[in-house]
Amino acid sequence: MFAEVIVDVAAYPIDRPFDYAVPEKFQTIIESGSRVKVPFGNRHVLGFVTAIKSETDVPVEKQKPIGELLDIEPVLTQEMLEMTKWLRRHTLCYEIDALQVMLPSALRAKYEKILEIVDHNFELPQSIQAMFQQKDRVELKVDESKELLTTIKKLIKENILALETVVKQKTAVKKVRMILIESDVKILQEIHLNISNKAKKQKDVVKWMMDYAGTRIVSTDLLKRLNTSNAVLQAVMEKGAATLELEEIYRDPYADRTINVSAKHSLTNEQHLALSEIIFSYDKHEAKTFLLHGITGSGKTEVYLQAIERALQDQKEAIVLVPEISLTPQMTNRFKERFGSLVAVLHSGLSTGEKYDEWRKIKRGEVKVVVGARSAVFAPFQNIGLIILDEEHEGTYKQDDSPRYHARDVAIWRSEYHHCPVILGSATPSLESYARAKKGNYSLLTLTKRPRDQALPEVSVIDMREQLKNGNRSMFSLELAESIRRRLDKQEQMVLFLNRRGHSSFVLCRDCGTVVECPNCDISMTYHRHQERIKCHYCGEESQVPNICPECKSDHIRFFGTGTQKVEEEIARLFPTARVLRMDVDTTRKKGSHEHILKLFGDGKADILLGTQMIAKGLDFPNITLVGVLSADTTLHLADFRAAEKTFQLLTQVSGRAGRHDKEGEVIVQTYTPEHYAIQFAKHHDFVPFYNQEMVNRKQFAYPPYTFVAFIQITHEDVLMTAEYAHKTANWLRENLSNSTEIIGPTASSISRVQNRYRYQCLIKYKKEPTLPEVLQQLTRIYRTDWMKKGILMSIDLNPSSIM
Ligand code: ADP
Ligand code: ZN
Ligand code: ZN
Repeated sequence: MFAEVIVDVAAYPIDRPFDYAVPEKFQTIIESGSRVKVPFGNRHVLGFVTAIKSETDVPVEKQKPIGELLDIEPVLTQEMLEMTKWLRRHTLCYEIDALQVMLPSALRAKYEKILEIVDHNFELPQSIQAMFQQKDRVELKVDESKELLTTIKKLIKENILALETVVKQKTAVKKVRMILIESDVKILQEIHLNISNKAKKQKDVVKWMMDYAGTRIVSTDLLKRLNTSNAVLQAVMEKGAATLELEEIYRDPYADRTINVSAKHSLTNEQHLALSEIIFSYDKHEAKTFLLHGITGSGKTEVYLQAIERALQDQKEAIVLVPEISLTPQMTNRFKERFGSLVAVLHSGLSTGEKYDEWRKIKRGEVKVVVGARSAVFAPFQNIGLIILDEEHEGTYKQDDSPRYHARDVAIWRSEYHHCPVILGSATPSLESYARAKKGNYSLLTLTKRPRDQALPEVSVIDMREQLKNGNRSMFSLELAESIRRRLDKQEQMVLFLNRRGHSSFVLCRDCGTVVECPNCDISMTYHRHQERIKCHYCGEESQVPNICPECKSDHIRFFGTGTQKVEEEIARLFPTARVLRMDVDTTRKKGSHEHILKLFGDGKADILLGTQMIAKGLDFPNITLVGVLSADTTLHLADFRAAEKTFQLLTQVSGRAGRHDKEGEVIVQTYTPEHYAIQFAKHHDFVPFYNQEMVNRKQFAYPPYTFVAFIQITHEDVLMTAEYAHKTANWLRENLSNSTEIIGPTASSISRVQNRYRYQCLIKYKKEPTLPEVLQQLTRIYRTDWMKKGILMSIDLNPSSIM
């Protein structure tokens, strides 16, 4: 007996199954999907059994046996093994990468296997009793005899014994020092008064604390933020300005929350119609994809919940994907509230061991609903009744390293395997999905109203060029500043959103709003700081940064970009009493910090939540009555054909954060290009006209969904080498692909050097290229056998979510 094994070595010549002999004692136990340890070269590596067979072409003297069998029950299901083949073809990844992406990281870590007696009434065979020696749990070594292993496997199937894999982890409970600032401002003022002027540092700290009365903050964050020492902090704590508390981190994020059971709503007509169509196709076991297009707050989630309820009645399972789980605690809770302990949440804050625990519960069917981000699409359920992608347009559903899969494609593949529906939900569907829905490939369902008929918030667009003309150089327009002041007086909350993405920047005239665009491509030119030049990433056009605006001849033309920290300083200057929480990459490095900030805000511990893209999603607080967008232009002028789409999506999503409950909401959008259609349609919450307009543009310039694109990036430490191989790539593609396919480039990437490696890129734009996967596989082969040795790195991304 032989096993085909994919070994854990990601390298080209090894990217194929190897045959190993199965030792006699594993023969009745081994199955495809099991992990094994096998000799490879002069070491032992982890491998996955992908097939069992009785013969091999390997000559007898070269045959090697499997060293160790790691699983009695295979970790990979038959479905996963089939999915691997498909993933490999469609993402051009190594097979081992495709296998690993489906498994929790614990299955790659060190672990021990514990065998446990479950049924104490059953009289165990002598041999097994000898193993347990009066204990209930023992470690199982797979080098036990074949007879013993066979018996054990049988007893596990009969639920008399259970096998657990326990991850060996030396993680003591971690604690973090939290500073609790005194909540009574008067006390803080008094302490401030009593500190002698000589202790200026202490005075400053207490002064700052007065704006954050009652707030909890991680000690190290506070020290960094105030640029002060622990001694100073200790001194003010001794005076009573704050207290110290040790807080456990990495605990179950839901442990200390009482979850209320929520009753279901009786559906509105639109919701009812949508749900019946879904259930109709569910009942017929149809692998149908629905696009649920509903305005923000229209009750999409309620439709998901009731569709899942139907699947659960049949003992089937459901997968719910959300863009980023730590940003959507409120959404996640709604599933917990409705389905209680049947829900597993695959939260990024879970430790390796905790994630693995959840994964096992899923595999054993102990839970029926999984809520998680992108990788939860691989949840090892075996009887799926429904798959849901909420906010289907989000870029986070595409993994940006190998395997470069899109969760939507995996979801649809699995729906075909399980004959069940998929629901893609969004207020702002991606152009691709909406186009497919219009063509009839997906089934379109629409929700046009909010259930209690709450109006969508009023959106005002402020022309920042006018502000400048009137002498206001601040990043806050008079209107926004006034509106913030009003909210502070009324003690209502607001969200300020700084639209900032990636590192790239563009050149903008602050007088007339002109952005320098490529003459050939209708795409903003990207500013390259090093060379002081601007370049087009679609065609390679480049030129000097202009000193005066080509349109209005003003010299107020420069590259554009602001950080959240700068905004925070400006808020402190303009609104000294405002309590601000900042949420961006810097304040959310620590696990659980998203949730923490959102909780503080929800508890009313701050007036203003200031943040980047992160805060656009999922927030649902009754007291938010103002949403301010500091500059809508940043995404609008990205060097990306999806720039307008991304801007429209963001503006619509952030607008949806205001006035979701009883208090009316207001949205203020600041921009230098108020006339842009993405901004105008977002102002009126008009998806369909936006879609129509954007499709006209895409058609004119032959961008998706009218074409498909593939993106190839080449990097090397030497710039000449990078350019040379990028040219080789482009030429090779031109020779091997059909004439109707456009190969654009090579051009230097927008971020032209990362970690000392130069980056060049090519873009393939095609309509019909049926052999593209094979052609790219050939290119990959050339790269892996030859170019890699020279230090070249190449990545290929089919249907990239961004091409920066
Ligand atoms: P979406 O997911 O489309 O943003 P939600 O499902 O979050 O919308 O619904 C918005 C709000 O309306 C929530 O507070 C939800 O509880 C409530 N809601 C949803 N459906 C109904 C209904 N049929 N009747 C009353 N309230 C509803
Ligand atoms: Zn100008
Ligand atoms: Zn161009």
